Amino acid sequence: MFDLSGKVALVTGGSRGIGRAIGEGLARHGARVVLAYANGEAQARDAVRAVEESGGRAEAVQLDVTNSAEVEQRIPEIAKRHGRLDILIANAGISIDGLLIRLRDEDLERILAVNLRGAIASARAAIKPMMRARTGRIVFVSSVVGEMGNAGQTAYAASKAALLGVTKSLAREYASRGITVNAISPGFIDTDMTAVLTEEQKQDISTKIPLGRTGTPAEVAAAAVFLASDEAGYITGQSLRVNGGMYM
Ligand code: NAP
Repeated sequence: MFDLSGKVALVTGGSRGIGRAIGEGLARHGARVVLAYANGEAQARDAVRAVEESGGRAEAVQLDVTNSAEVEQRIPEIAKRHGRLDILIANAGISIDGLLIRLRDEDLERILAVNLRGAIASARAAIKPMMRARTGRIVFVSSVVGEMGNAGQTAYAASKAALLGVTKSLAREYASRGITVNAISPGFIDTDMTAVLTEEQKQDISTKIPLGRTGTPAEVAAAAVFLASDEAGYITGQSLRVNGGMYM
């Protein structure tokens, strides 16, 4: 099940955390994986090594999703080099938290630039080779916060809620070309992004999760592998929640 052999997948923000786990999951199911990083070259190379050591195929590519020119150049290059681009996981994301009254314009701009504009630019570049092939899978990594909101995360929530609208619009726009577009909305997942929280804060969050614990990047990766697979061919415009029941 979920045989991705012969397929080429690009994961933005694939150097660490959820993106790295998704890359590893796709590679384990046979895809050739391009792990894109912004600054974390060493971590991306480490992720490539991990994939190769377990028998998969991967490469690291520098791709800052806020740089539209770079996105417009590198993604077609990747598709050309491999002769195809079947799967895009638009995962790159940042959070800058704080109350609205202290929210600086530059932080709002930065969050939207990476999480929203970067994801849209990545999809725009990836969709062209998919259209030519008349098949493709795009998965945006949204967040439970985009669905239920969170005090102190107005800008982040805005970017992630917007991605759900982007998902539905693109799903309608490209269905006739054989391209499905879905989102994953993770809950609280143990990565660098959430490592800033204290043990007490994490305990408090866990009490609000019916499954009683935080999630792992591998658990998000499993959803991405499914949505990227042929088996998910009749699913488009959806958001798959991987949140331990935190939001239903
Ligand atoms: P993470 O560990 O902080 O990793 C973030 C990734 O995004 C890194 O690979 C980073 O690349 C990349 N990135 C940051 N800015 C970039 C840019 N301008 N261009 C390209 N790549 C960039 O975060 P994570 O927890 O794995 O989060 C991954 C995604 O899941 C994000 O979209 C996040 O919002 C979402 N999410 C996370 C959680 C959670 O609880 N962790 C929950 C819901 C949703 P470098 O290494 O090169 O910096």
